[in-house]
Amino acid sequence: MILRVDKLMTALPVPNSPNASAAAAVQEVMGGKTGELSTLMNYFFQSCNLRGREEYRPYYDLIANIAAEEWGHVELVSYTINLLLSGATTRGTDPSAAPLKSAIDEHYKYHFLSSGQTALPADSMGNWWNGSYVFNSGNLRMDLVHNFFLECGARATKMRVYEMTSDPTARELTAFLLIRGSTHVIAYAKAIEKLSGVDVMKLFPIPELSNHKFPECRKYIEQGLYHTMYYFSPQDYRRLAEIWTGPHPDGAPNLVVSDQPIPTMAAPPSLPSEPQLGAPVPPTMEPGFLAEVTKRIFG
Ligand code: MN
Ligand code: MN
Repeated sequence: MILRVDKLMTALPVPNSPNASAAAAVQEVMGGKTGELSTLMNYFFQSCNLRGREEYRPYYDLIANIAAEEWGHVELVSYTINLLLSGATTRGTDPSAAPLKSAIDEHYKYHFLSSGQTALPADSMGNWWNGSYVFNSGNLRMDLVHNFFLECGARATKMRVYEMTSDPTARELTAFLLIRGSTHVIAYAKAIEKLSGVDVMKLFPIPELSNHKFPECRKYIEQGLYHTMYYFSPQDYRRLAEIWTGPHPDGAPNLVVSDQPIPTMAAPPSLPSEPQLGAPVPPTMEPGFLAEVTKRIFG
């Protein structure tokens, strides 16, 4: 089960100005094939479905714990999209003034037509996320190899979104996810190594582009997020430490596990109302009107 905490994994800056195009690009990190919904649901199904659990306990613990972390990544992506869309149209309740006029020029119409200028379970082109993105073969080795490539693909997507926009909110999100995604790449590589004896780090140079190139990543590296695996459970999943150990492949300190919450945890930003998207209520409506209509319909 999930024990939910009303916090985000890191603080997100409020954007300098609304940016619907950046929000559309960030949707790829949400509902694309390599997005956070995919990593969450891959590890969710793989952990629930892992047979022979006692024999493979450290692998189960690793996958289950990372699944819990991915939930928090989905939250971060949602808030980023929501912040970028706050104020993207003219606020007001007069429909004849066409408060959504500016949305006609946005290529991602779903943000304005299907939601209240908020995140959707879809990719950057509006394709809905779907369950075919989940790979759960029932063979632990195959699943781990898949997870390794999924995290590498997720990393490429985040780098490209970072390179598409200079918006500080989108960049903070992608920098944070690059750091945490890197730990997942390393974790799955080490899991494959432990299970099969293959030195994955020698087979594939990781990472192709170091996180040190991204200025927003530096503070996260200094705070230990690049070499630490946090337990997203008060007591469980402790045997992942049998996998998450040894030297770091990108020069960070040796891999460690932490009982402490992730140190970057922050309060979620508040999201302003967008009255133009609410159900219009005539200000002159009589207070007793709804009560009377309800009485007539339902008796
Ligand atoms: Mn993630
Ligand atoms: Mn991940």
